[in-house]
Amino acid sequence: MIQSVVIVGGGTAGWMTATYLRATFGSRISVTLVESKNVPTIGVGEATFSTIRHFFAYLGLQEHEWMPECSATYKLGIRFENWREQGHYFYHPFERPRMIDRFPITDWWLRLRRTGRFDDDCFVIPALCEHKSSPRHLSGETFEQRGWGGDQATAGGTTTEQRTQFPYAYHFDAAMLAKYLSRYGTDRGVHHVLDNVTDVVLDSRGWISHVTTAEHGELHGDLFIDCTGFRGVLLNKKMGEPFQSYQETLPNDSAVALRVPQDIATQGLRPVTTATAQEAGWIWTIPLFSRHGTGYVYASDYITPDQAERTLREFVGPAADGLEANHIKMRIGRTRNAWVKNCVGIGLSAGFVEPLESTGIFFIQNGVEQLVKHFPDKRWDDALRDSYNGHMARMMDGVREFLALHYYAAGRRDNQYWKDTKTRPLPDGLAERIEQWKVKLPDSESVFPYFHGFEPYSYQIMLLGLGGVPLQAPPALGAIDESAAERELELVGQEGRKLVTELPSQYEYFAHLRGLT
Ligand code: FAD
Repeated sequence: MIQSVVIVGGGTAGWMTATYLRATFGSRISVTLVESKNVPTIGVGEATFSTIRHFFAYLGLQEHEWMPECSATYKLGIRFENWREQGHYFYHPFERPRMIDRFPITDWWLRLRRTGRFDDDCFVIPALCEHKSSPRHLSGETFEQRGWGGDQATAGGTTTEQRTQFPYAYHFDAAMLAKYLSRYGTDRGVHHVLDNVTDVVLDSRGWISHVTTAEHGELHGDLFIDCTGFRGVLLNKKMGEPFQSYQETLPNDSAVALRVPQDIATQGLRPVTTATAQEAGWIWTIPLFSRHGTGYVYASDYITPDQAERTLREFVGPAADGLEANHIKMRIGRTRNAWVKNCVGIGLSAGFVEPLESTGIFFIQNGVEQLVKHFPDKRWDDALRDSYNGHMARMMDGVREFLALHYYAAGRRDNQYWKDTKTRPLPDGLAERIEQWKVKLPDSESVFPYFHGFEPYSYQIMLLGLGGVPLQAPPALGAIDESAAERELELVGQEGRKLVTELPSQYEYFAHLRGLT
């Protein structure tokens, strides 16, 4: 086996990678993490996917231990506001549609309702979001729902690709999480060096032999992991691996972010990330226990940073007064190969798409899980490396396609930015798939064929919610008795109404967990 791993970078990617490798290999492989004292982390990245629960479970961390320390809250889905037209909203919940007579409830909804809120009619989670409910009772039990694996499914050894559907993910403060994980990692033997990497030195074959630091000399290792974010200090700058931009299909290339204090005791805590469409992009709102994380993701071809900041401040209102804005230039796309020789990029160095579906941390989690599955020994088998690179490339390309659909299918066309979303080139294959979806909602046969974290139901929800692509129910439903579907649609509403009376609010739940009530 190889004996030592050196990770450069101590943001979310660096610490998730270090702790995961340590949890997997224990002391058999040494892990050193070097992070700069003065190069800041990106400072955003606070909403996740439901499969993040596998990560914490694998580390053996319980929610009551880590969540209060990271200002964390629950996320039951994403609320999309103003994407179809001003004032319209819908939820993309972490909930698979029920099946009725072999057809998903969403197909039946197209046949039987077609008016009103498809999300409320087909899923129970939107009711919980509207009522700011916690997905857990004060006793700690998760609310019951058919088809969900509950807590047993998080037992060690599971990964992002396991097909359990959890009803929630997390929001957390990224800096607090990195600090929490750094404590966890160093307690378990991760060697932590606080210093700047000033040089990356190659041997005669062009493999990394060591990195040089300003104050701690040379750090040698077998495998080097580049977690230096958009800088790509090892993978892009030293190994020369090119970056492939997605800009042609996803033009948003900038963001401006604020951390906004909130009085959650009076306002409550929405268990949902909100994505509110704007004149040249969208604004995220992420409710944490102590504050909101919020930011405007925009295309600099359409508005300036000053305009974006002004819009964000107006959106937030007086609470934004005096707060410092963080302007970020985003590199959208992926490094051609995430693994080159003995250097692997994880996190922003490997690739990034705008955070519309909160996929950055999911890429990290899947990247490190896959690295363990493909972990090399001293033979450095090319096939292992190629398999890893193929997987990571397809995963990010798949997410690009899903995000491109969000813009193409959005109903609004009220200015040049939104008009252009209908004529911009689509990733290969998507145009053809959209034609298919017009007559039959997406299913496992018709979505991007490789693992990329999203199931067909997410595509169904986006098409139903965004409203810009005409859809129709399968003609067969016209010849099937619809009474079972009518009953199920009714039942969903009843279940949602019952749950919101039984569950505590999210604020009550966390106040209780923290001993504040
Ligand atoms: P960084 O946080 O940039 O960390 C880089 C590290 O490298 C730092 O520790 C730095 O000190 C170190 N470093 C750099 N150069 C050197 C050097 N020479 N020597 C030593 N150390 C060095 N993801 C989500 O999942 N959900 C979200 O809601 C979300 N929102 C986002 C919003 C925006 C606007 C952006 C840009 C990203 C968002 N992401 C989101 C992505 C998420 O922020 C990142 O995936 C995550 O933070 C990982 O970043 P990183 O660790 O790769 O890089």
